[in-house]
Amino acid sequence: MIGRTRSVVLVGLTGHLIEVEAHLAASLPAFTIVGLPDTALGEARDRVRAATSSSGLLWPARRVTVNLTPASLPKSGSVTDLAIAVAALVAADQIPPAAPASAVHLGELGLDGRVRPVRGILPMVAGAVEAGLTRIVVPVGNLAEARLVEGADVLGVASLAELLAMYGSTEAVATASEPVLEAPPPVSHANRVDLSDVQGQADARWALEVAAAGGHHLLMTGPPGTGKTMLAERLPGILPDLPAREAVAATSVHSLAGTLDPSAGLISRPPFEAPHHSASAAAIVGGGARLARPGAISRAHGGVLFLDEAPEFSARVLQTLRQPLESGEIVLHRAHGAVRYPARFQLVLAANPCPCGRFHGNGAGCTCTPLERRRYLSRLSGPLLDRVDLQVAVLPVRLGAAAGGEAESSVEVAARVAAARRRARERLADAGWRMNAEVAGAWLRARTSGPACAPAWRALERGLVSARGADRALRVAWTLADLDGDEAPGAAHVEQALLLRRGDS
Ligand SMILES: [Zn+2]
Repeated sequence: MIGRTRSVVLVGLTGHLIEVEAHLAASLPAFTIVGLPDTALGEARDRVRAATSSSGLLWPARRVTVNLTPASLPKSGSVTDLAIAVAALVAADQIPPAAPASAVHLGELGLDGRVRPVRGILPMVAGAVEAGLTRIVVPVGNLAEARLVEGADVLGVASLAELLAMYGSTEAVATASEPVLEAPPPVSHANRVDLSDVQGQADARWALEVAAAGGHHLLMTGPPGTGKTMLAERLPGILPDLPAREAVAATSVHSLAGTLDPSAGLISRPPFEAPHHSASAAAIVGGGARLARPGAISRAHGGVLFLDEAPEFSARVLQTLRQPLESGEIVLHRAHGAVRYPARFQLVLAANPCPCGRFHGNGAGCTCTPLERRRYLSRLSGPLLDRVDLQVAVLPVRLGAAAGGEAESSVEVAARVAAARRRARERLADAGWRMNAEVAGAWLRARTSGPACAPAWRALERGLVSARGADRALRVAWTLADLDGDEAPGAAHVEQALLLRRGDS
């Protein structure tokens, strides 16, 4: 009178295997689920009962108790529906126990008995495989995504009846015919843009290359229409492929966010996310009423987070970016405990020079007061800008100035970036860093020899840069040396790095 099978619940991006146990007692008909279920899971009772009768089977007229263990894991959502139905029908002797006991069942049930796709199937399947269970039944709408997990023996089912028939039930009949498939997510165009589309803007293009080579965060200031967005969109195209671990994490985030296109395989190219400044904090950082969904900062994991008109973002959102910039993850606090999502991204900020956007050159046409101008950019100041190594001005391209022949393509620039990154990785491996942007100030000051540092210290003495600004210039100088293939930065690199930080002055 006991039926058993397995399912998976997600805590953050980690799939935990759970046991689903159904017990039938000969007393008044009832159906209870125990083991920390949230509201959505509580509604599973209605879905499971309806789906069973829609599949041509009788729901047992007994007292049915379903236990989800371990009870200590917070469980939410509808992904355990299928496992609950299977365990109850095993307990009711409607299907034999052996096959279901050794399989993992994932999927939401519709009242009509169809198995509906769920978000986050990839990390769930990965969690089951990691726990040693490889036979996994998933909604047919999630099959392509589930197959991305190595070592998983996945079976896609369209309905509960189809699964029960496979388990040997002779009574199961599917009533609904069309399987439920997920609508494909909107196709990102980030992989189809190229740096050769950007004419002129030699300084800004150079800053973009340096940002890519050292992993430096970047602030671009300039009037509207100078191509800041166009440049930012082309940063992922010159970054190297994601390392395997990061690719799995990025794919898992998009699986949970519902923005994964499984036909494209694992996400191996750096993603690009550009939330609008009017987007809610939950949309940007992550959160939501019932389940804490990953936000734009996590969807940008391994790639680029672009904040256009950055001073327009709420102070609260800008403040929240500090945690992921430091730790590479975001912690969202929920009723059942904290949820962690990865959020290691390269930050690109774009800002107009002033609220009206016309303060550049001789400043003619700007209608802002000096106070308004100061206040505008100071919204970004402090701890956030402390982490932004590169600050460049993007000025309007003068007519005719663009006619400098064919602009270099992303592939050409990416090759130099990859070579520079390799140099940095080899040099920094012992210290545990991957790229120059991560290097601590003390290391920089100890390793950058006296004469090379001189321009930075002179700028510091003259009050042109802060002490942190000098560190950032040294960090960028190492990247410039890496791009030149030099062992260590020379005075010219440090001077150039100071120029790439004009925003400091
Ligand atoms: Zn203005």
